[in-house]
Amino acid sequence: MTTVEELHKRFLEYPLVSTDSRKIEADCIFFALKGPNFDGNTFAREALEKGAAFVVIDNPDYHWEGKTLLVKDVLTALQELARYHRHYCNARVIALTGSNGKTTTKELIYSVLSGKYRTIATKGNLNNHIGVPLTLLSIQADTEFAIIEMGANHQKEIAFLSNIAEPDFGYITNFGKAHLEGFGGVEGVIKGKSELYDFLTANNKHAFLNADDPIQVEKLSGYVRKIGFSQTDPQYFNIRFLRADPFVWLEIEDTVIKTQLIGEYNFSNCCVALLIGKYFNVPLESMKEGIENYVPENNRSQVLHHKHFKIIMDAYNANPSSMKVALEQFGKMKEDPKIAFLGDMFELGEDAEREHQQIAELAASLNLEEVFLVGENFYRTQTELQKFPSFDSLSSHLKTSPLSSGTLLIKGSRGMALERLLEVL
Ligand code: ATP
Ligand code: MG
Repeated sequence: MTTVEELHKRFLEYPLVSTDSRKIEADCIFFALKGPNFDGNTFAREALEKGAAFVVIDNPDYHWEGKTLLVKDVLTALQELARYHRHYCNARVIALTGSNGKTTTKELIYSVLSGKYRTIATKGNLNNHIGVPLTLLSIQADTEFAIIEMGANHQKEIAFLSNIAEPDFGYITNFGKAHLEGFGGVEGVIKGKSELYDFLTANNKHAFLNADDPIQVEKLSGYVRKIGFSQTDPQYFNIRFLRADPFVWLEIEDTVIKTQLIGEYNFSNCCVALLIGKYFNVPLESMKEGIENYVPENNRSQVLHHKHFKIIMDAYNANPSSMKVALEQFGKMKEDPKIAFLGDMFELGEDAEREHQQIAELAASLNLEEVFLVGENFYRTQTELQKFPSFDSLSSHLKTSPLSSGTLLIKGSRGMALERLLEVL
């Protein structure tokens, strides 16, 4: 069996890792992972033929003289290699978790820290038991900071990922109503996400803190290695929210920063990036530039102009807490007329009915010209609002009764793919 030290030696010679036999680059090391419907071992030969330097396998039947590294379990080997490499390098590791805003916050921190330091961060949304190791393996000898996004939809997952990444610093974006089904309700979410704090406190590491979030404050009460931001509490780093018009404006040490992010919830995402930059002595001018230049992508709270519409496209994802803040924010906007398209929120288990009902009631209470609810869950709500059981039924409706103009909010779970509305409007 190949030891982690031997594996790491090979990795230093061939520092490119692949887990997908369809995307083999020359001289990479292919990890033959197993999925629900496939066994990576069976692709080992193909990976070598496509130019992989080595393949890591756990089934000796696929052995190829001089080219295979046999381990007990490929996934565990990948995770152990990542942890080994993380300690081999000198980069400081900052881990992020939370129900919403991880990717946005990760990118903001990256924008700020890379103004002064050689920084790497999770690519896209690769935040699970495979993505976290892959990100750690992208740390290079001269990397100074690694920002690692950690996602979870059940208990013990963040504890597991923390044990791989062994972060020196950590931050929890928020405790919201996401993945309620897997976590077992809101209390379950708090417990599950707090596993990052549990790791940090048990290992004397530093926790970044939103000191205006009572749950975070309570979770870290009594712990000394915390570094916080607050709008009001003078014992923490002060950052002031100015307005959301809809872009968020904030003020730090008499410097005004105008972000390209919409939604008040992005304020705390910016705050922690500034707090971290400040803690590591990134000059304020450079932090300002980093935050102001960051534009979200992937249908995450983007403002688009399409035909006669101004669109707040937030179709990347939705859960009750992000839906609520997005709607409230939309309700406050001065534009007229305002029209909301709200798609089903998934993974809510037994809370689905109640949460959809509450969102429908909130939408009905706001001063919106029209609201279109779409999806099986919203279709079951008791409401006067227009509702459609599927995207197709909404789409047929819009074809016969098209909208002429207005400001639109488009938000729903990933599976609803409401960005398809752009083709229908
Ligand atoms: P995923 O679980 O898919 O990785 P994520 O936690 O990385 O999601 P983002 O992709 O950054 O989150 O943002 C997704 C959506 O969450 C945003 O479009 C926005 O609606 C909402 N959101 C972002 N930040 C916050 C926040 N601090 N609090 C509540 N909602 C937020
Ligand atoms: Mg993410």
